[in-house]
Amino acid sequence: MAKSFEIVVIGGGPGGYVAAIRAAQLGFSVACIEKHINKDGDAALGGTCLNVGCIPSKALLDSSHKYIEAKESFKVHGISVKDLSIDISAMQDRKDGIVRNLTKGVASLFKANGVSWLKGAGKLLAGKQVEFVPAEGGDAETIAAENVILASGSVPVEIASAPLKDNLVVDSTGALDFTDVPKRLGIIGAGIIGLELGSVWRRLGAEVTILEAQEVFLPMVDQLVAKDAIKQYKKQGLDVKLGARVTGSEAEGNEVTIAYSDNSGDQQLVVDKLIVAVGRRPVTENLLAGDSGVNLDERGLIFVNSYCRTDVPGVYAIGDIVRGPALAHKAMEEAVMVVERIAEQPVQLNYDAIPSVVYTHPEIAWVGQTEEQVKASGEAYKVGTFPFAASGRAMAANESVGLVKFIVHEETDRVLGVHIVGAQASELIQQAVIGMEFGASVEDFQLMVFAHPSLSEVVHEAALDVDGKAVHIAKRKRKKK
Ligand code: FAD
Ligand code: NAD
Repeated sequence: MAKSFEIVVIGGGPGGYVAAIRAAQLGFSVACIEKHINKDGDAALGGTCLNVGCIPSKALLDSSHKYIEAKESFKVHGISVKDLSIDISAMQDRKDGIVRNLTKGVASLFKANGVSWLKGAGKLLAGKQVEFVPAEGGDAETIAAENVILASGSVPVEIASAPLKDNLVVDSTGALDFTDVPKRLGIIGAGIIGLELGSVWRRLGAEVTILEAQEVFLPMVDQLVAKDAIKQYKKQGLDVKLGARVTGSEAEGNEVTIAYSDNSGDQQLVVDKLIVAVGRRPVTENLLAGDSGVNLDERGLIFVNSYCRTDVPGVYAIGDIVRGPALAHKAMEEAVMVVERIAEQPVQLNYDAIPSVVYTHPEIAWVGQTEEQVKASGEAYKVGTFPFAASGRAMAANESVGLVKFIVHEETDRVLGVHIVGAQASELIQQAVIGMEFGASVEDFQLMVFAHPSLSEVVHEAALDVDGKAVHIAKRKRKKK
């Protein structure tokens, strides 16, 4: 007899595995189909995030940060380190161990919750049937489902001007596995991946050049923050070339020659390794039968409404294959929303309060609208900023670069956006997320008590500065917006 489940999830990344676990917690019979085989040759859950994304990149960012701190920053504390070195293979083993632990951890959670993990590929057929092709071979099965959640994620975009080649021209996955520090590293794309992975290898000694087609650096980030950040990156030796359009590349022997053009004309860059980091695209190939009834939008993403319902009742899509930021936490919360709604709970996701983080040092983090967006909307607004340089805790920690910026509605005092470049921005931004989720006014932030001394006080003072009330900085002339 054909297998049947109340919920079948296709894809076991942060969207899919969270959906499967939450569904099982709510008492549904649930199967999760995941096809990934990891570099040890084992089937693995966790998707891009755990295997080749968030987690391994943060492991390398943390290792390389410790190294550069020991090399450059310890001395201000009076600490000297002799014969500092880094063992790249030990660093990579640590990272691989963390990935192994976490992906196995998800498999244990499946077991503990009674989720059936079907190892292989899934495809949505008409009538909420799912075709399952086992990874180990054998016949395809058809599984009946009352509800299907599509969560097949995304993969790196490839470009014809820089085709991948063995160990020379790689995507983000290849760049997580370098066995040596390249002397000269080229990166196409100054987006989040380019900046994070560029930082890792720069800290470990590579000369890093990043070629970015757009003239504006990090256009999705508030430009005051983006300008502060690029100053710091340049000081660190990341050579970001804006307005650089790659026209071709040639990987020959141990070198890659990249041709690009910028405002000064045609240019060439020769590197030992090239990372292509120009964005990611949704995985929809072999996912939908021609008569599945699910439609794509004009960007090739699966078309869904604000509750992640596709055009077929009972079929949902979440995570990187649908509109919205391609972030693990967004995928996870969409997973919870969909499953709770299948259980008839009126849950919804506040898409206006999803934080974003670039895990460089200093980190960049933001939530809500940028000043450029608010200005374009025509709303009257006011702004407050405060530098980490004026914070006692930041000074004590030798972390005094960066700033916090609030953008607030002029009449209602509602917080429209908070933007941070600075140490621990990834943690500090959650204060703004919580505030915005609860509909906080800037006065709420102004009247709250913040621990002293803490980096959070920079958030407090930036909120105070919105109304010219910041204490630990000389009064500045305020511009009318
Ligand atoms: P995915 O994680 O891509 O998972 C989809 C899964 O579906 C995959 O395992 C795939 O094998 C499987 N699959 C696809 N098709 C089928 C099929 N037909 N049958 C069975 N299985 C299938 N986000 C953050 O929020 N924070 C970060 O710090 C961060 N860092 C990142 C660093 C890097 C280098 C990269 C590449 C990404 C990073 N991201 C980060 C983005 C994050 O990884 C994604 O947003 C997130 O993984 C999306 O989750 P998902 O479940 O939608 O898809
Ligand atoms: P991205 O969209 O962030 O950046 C890609 C950059 O490449 C853009 O600035 C774009 O202008 C540039 N570009 C595109 N084509 C180009 C070309 N031909 N020549 C030169 N530049 C070109 O994409 P990404 O860095 O690949 O990351 C993909 C996604 O993964 C992110 O948008 C994010 O959603 C997710 N991610 C998140 C994190 C995090 O949350 N910390 C980390 C890594 C990845």
